[in-house]
Amino acid sequence: MTYSTLINGSTPIYNKCNAREGAIKKITPHHMAGNMGAAACAKYHRDSDRQASANYYIGSDGAIWGGVPEEYRAWTSSSWDNDNQAITIEVANSATGGNWPISDAAFNSLIRLCKDICERYGIKLTWTGNASGTLTCHDMFAATNCPGLYLKSKFPELVQLVNGTTASQPVSKKSVDEIAKEVINGKWGNGGDRKNRLAAAGYDYNAVQAKVNALIGQKAAPATPAKKSNDVIAQEVINGKWGYGQDRINRLKATGYDPNAIQALVNQKLGGSKKSNETIANEVIQGKWGNGADRKNRLTKAGYDYNAIQAIVNRKLG
Ligand SMILES: [Zn+2]
Repeated sequence: MTYSTLINGSTPIYNKCNAREGAIKKITPHHMAGNMGAAACAKYHRDSDRQASANYYIGSDGAIWGGVPEEYRAWTSSSWDNDNQAITIEVANSATGGNWPISDAAFNSLIRLCKDICERYGIKLTWTGNASGTLTCHDMFAATNCPGLYLKSKFPELVQLVNGTTASQPVSKKSVDEIAKEVINGKWGNGGDRKNRLAAAGYDYNAVQAKVNALIGQKAAPATPAKKSNDVIAQEVINGKWGYGQDRINRLKATGYDPNAIQALVNQKLGGSKKSNETIANEVIQGKWGNGADRKNRLTKAGYDYNAIQAIVNRKLG
């Protein structure tokens, strides 16, 4: 009874399988078309009337469960020939219908399991889109949605990640610098997902992350050598230099300005809501505009003539 050492447990299935004839040369991931747990799906296959089984089951939580032992041919792919050569793996969907997504945890476990199988049987995983590759899928042999659009779209990535660490291809390994740049460009996901994928591909997560932080730090520091005042930027916005709508917001943010503060100034500058000097002078007397240099700054920024208003204030108080 052979299983990968990666399994979290097993439900040995002997009632729905046959002895293999020949060597194991392929891997065939399927989707469950549902979100059963790994163990639950294995037990269902063993105990139900359905004439179906698989060598492994992967849950949305990433659990890997053994079913039909590897030395037996499971009944999974509607093809005696394929299943005879393949280790078959049922993967849980994280949601039902649509493109039949699977969780990142399930995908990460699939990577690990495929890598382990490839190493033990000397398989080089290849995705050709048809049954000639060593990575095959159910819809090559029957009219079925399996393995679902999402999982199938991940096959090229799966092949890349599984092969990335095989001893036969050490040359293709990229430098920490290159990988860090890919991380910044979003190619390796985020958080735990990123960590798992980097590890599965044979990279040192901490080294890569340190490089990412260094690169991001370098970028941020010299971004704005001479930052202009909000007032100057607001005037530039009015002059059309910063574009419009979301584009403007993005550009302001990217350059280190607060889009809301700038917009408030723009509105102020363009506003027909400008009050009369008389009204502002009354507000000054009521204390709404502060004192001294602060008052002068605020009045000037709001587009008022400080001296004219101060003259009115003096007259009123005089
Ligand atoms: Zn299938």
